[in-house]
Amino acid sequence: MKIVASPLLSSLGGVTACFTTRHGGVSRPPYTSANLAFHVGDAAADVLANHDLLARTLGYERSRLVYMRQIHSDRIVRVDETVNFDTPSECDALITDRPETALMVMSADCTPILLYDPLSRAIGAVHAGRAGAFLGILPKTIRAMEAAFATAPENLRISFGPSIGGCCYEINTQIAAEAEALGYRNALRFEEKRVFLDVNTILLTQLNEMGISEERVDVVRACTACRSDTYFSYRADAQKTGRIAGVIMLR
Ligand SMILES: [Zn+2]
Repeated sequence: MKIVASPLLSSLGGVTACFTTRHGGVSRPPYTSANLAFHVGDAAADVLANHDLLARTLGYERSRLVYMRQIHSDRIVRVDETVNFDTPSECDALITDRPETALMVMSADCTPILLYDPLSRAIGAVHAGRAGAFLGILPKTIRAMEAAFATAPENLRISFGPSIGGCCYEINTQIAAEAEALGYRNALRFEEKRVFLDVNTILLTQLNEMGISEERVDVVRACTACRSDTYFSYRADAQKTGRIAGVIMLR
């Protein structure tokens, strides 16, 4: 399976952190070919085969991978021994300090985020689209890691995977007003009568407010809608499409 490693997180050692692309799997159109989501209409056997391919590529047991039934919420689940591949939780963030347990976040335009603190040896995986960003899922996950594992936010290294950019994510005036009311005017771009939102700008602003500077964050600067040849895009692929994933695991 074709993957993109997070250079920042990988450079620290003790962790595997990467994002998948749409290439290197077995799914057929419109899920060609490395779709990892069961809920999008793809053949379950193909999705399972893709999970096996990814597990082999990264070197973990598929049963030790935990993914989420993502609901655009601010719900965070701490992964312990009771959670496994067959028991996904409804949530939008996973945290753990368990080694050899892979956390997965799936996306097709939303931002998949991986977090690692090498000192407290804790990791997180977050799904943040516009709704999640407005709800503060990323800062809430960092606070949850602080409470659960004594993770100091300033020690975290964070990786944003490919997501839809402000170039392509057009929103309506109601959502634009909501963004303004929340203090995120800097994430809006006005073009004649149209408005575009850059969700990563909101996320980086939230990190900055927690004292986490941009050099602690690496961003895959690829817009999923512009680059739907490489990634799945819910918008560019007219909604019927697969999901890429971010995966993080303590070694
Ligand atoms: Zn774009």
